[in-house]
Amino acid sequence: MPVSVYPCSVCKQRKPGKLATAYWAWFLADGERSAWKLRYCPADAQDALLSLLTRLHEQGATSEVFACVSCGADASTDSDPMYLTLYLPGKEPMEYALQLDSACAAKLRSPITTQGERLPDRGGLVRGPSPSNTAWDALGFNPV
Ligand SMILES: [Zn+2]
Ligand SMILES: [Zn+2]
Repeated sequence: MPVSVYPCSVCKQRKPGKLATAYWAWFLADGERSAWKLRYCPADAQDALLSLLTRLHEQGATSEVFACVSCGADASTDSDPMYLTLYLPGKEPMEYALQLDSACAAKLRSPITTQGERLPDRGGLVRGPSPSNTAWDALGFNPV
């Protein structure tokens, strides 16, 4: 398998196959939208995203709409959500809204802002054709 054209944003390595592309966004205290693009190899996507999105799925089955996705605490008075659009190779883009309290949001944003590439705003959401990749199929990401 040829290695990816771009390096993974987290481990900075070119891995065999295609990378996932994630667009993260949230709103700053002054209302400005902060948007970031990261590329993830399968291992780093699993570390950075899969447990979070698995908890999101589990929460979706309950009525705890204001529970923080990261720690499970009530975030209704301290809500600082993040939005993720995830492009897995060969899949339709998946959109997630993650309810977070401000402490957990700050923790999640820290690696994104150090590893990612800041976007001007909603630019760069280009859907490209990409062949399927069995490494990604094995990870078990699912649309909400
Ligand atoms: Zn990586
Ligand atoms: Zn939390």
